[in-house]
Amino acid sequence: MNLSVKMEYIVEKQLTELYKEIHRWIHRAGNILVFTHVNPDGDAVGSALGLCLYLRKKGKTADAMTPNDFPDFLKWLPGSAGLVRFQGHRQEARSLIGKADLIIMLDFNDRRRMGYAKDSIMASEAPKVLIDHHPGPDQIAGLVLTDTMTSSTAEMVYNLISLNGDNALIDKDIASCLFAGIMTDTGCFSFNSSCPSTYMAVSALLAAGIDKDGIYDKIYNQFSPDRIRLLGYCLHRKMTVLPGLHTAYITLSLKEQEEFRFVTGDSEGFVNYPLSIAGIIFSVLIIEKKEHVKLSFRSKGAFSVNDFAGRHFNGGGHDNAAGGESYDSLEKTVNQLKEILPGYADALKTAFNT
Ligand code: 5GP
Ligand code: MN
Repeated sequence: MNLSVKMEYIVEKQLTELYKEIHRWIHRAGNILVFTHVNPDGDAVGSALGLCLYLRKKGKTADAMTPNDFPDFLKWLPGSAGLVRFQGHRQEARSLIGKADLIIMLDFNDRRRMGYAKDSIMASEAPKVLIDHHPGPDQIAGLVLTDTMTSSTAEMVYNLISLNGDNALIDKDIASCLFAGIMTDTGCFSFNSSCPSTYMAVSALLAAGIDKDGIYDKIYNQFSPDRIRLLGYCLHRKMTVLPGLHTAYITLSLKEQEEFRFVTGDSEGFVNYPLSIAGIIFSVLIIEKKEHVKLSFRSKGAFSVNDFAGRHFNGGGHDNAAGGESYDSLEKTVNQLKEILPGYADALKTAFNT
């Protein structure tokens, strides 16, 4: 066995032990709360609902909760009608947190990602498990399973089920949720998706009877005319390209969002478009929200947006996809970005050339 194969074997063995330990915790619990991050995306909602449906099949009382609302294009997901949003439903949410004898947290690595639900979740004395694929997890749970090599948290939930010998319990609903998570977190298998194991999971989900093309259609082809016009507007009028820095950014104010009757999820994916320009390896979307300014970062190759977001914008994420926030005005935030970028000229150039 050569050293790298040996390392892989050891890592794999350690992960398998952690998955088994999670099953022991699940076995001891009766009332399980599955919780995921603020502004939930396809992987967050897909993994949470998939896990929740599986736990019910195992005879547990299980509920899924998000800190706030999730995009309309995910509202067809099986089980999504019963998903509890903390914001706007605090009483019901607090009662579920109070009743839980196990809290499984999915798809985030930083306690700030719990949004308004943070204090209630952290105050709970229930044992907590974190299952996630972001680097550098915050110690927010008694049992933390982080696997940065895996495409998505949904794939990790598949692994959890599969390692327990429960593939037969994966029905079409569970499989649809997990596939939606894997598909969205890999940009439809265009990044974070080069491990054979991802396709072994997908193969099992297809075997469970999912309508793969239908899921794609429900997620990517159901936008409003306003959303498509907003995308056109952003690319035509609001995108600044800085070829010398291999960077492009898009800004969007609240006033512009109003003009296009913006709803949650409308800007999902916008940040990826500048990366399709030749020579651009770093893309930023800067959106004004009511309480703060939200930034999304994407990169190609060796330029780590996780570091960039953490260092300058109170955020983080993955090496090639991260987010952050600013409490300055939109204009100030854009100026701050413009001031910071020249300091990364060499790093961006090196990443472009490798
Ligand atoms: P998005 O740009 O789609 O909102 O997020 C991209 C990635 O960065 C996701 O994996 C998400 O979990 C993570 N992320 C987004 N915003 C934040 C943030 O404010 N803090 C941290 N730590 N991660 C974030
Ligand atoms: Mn994810």
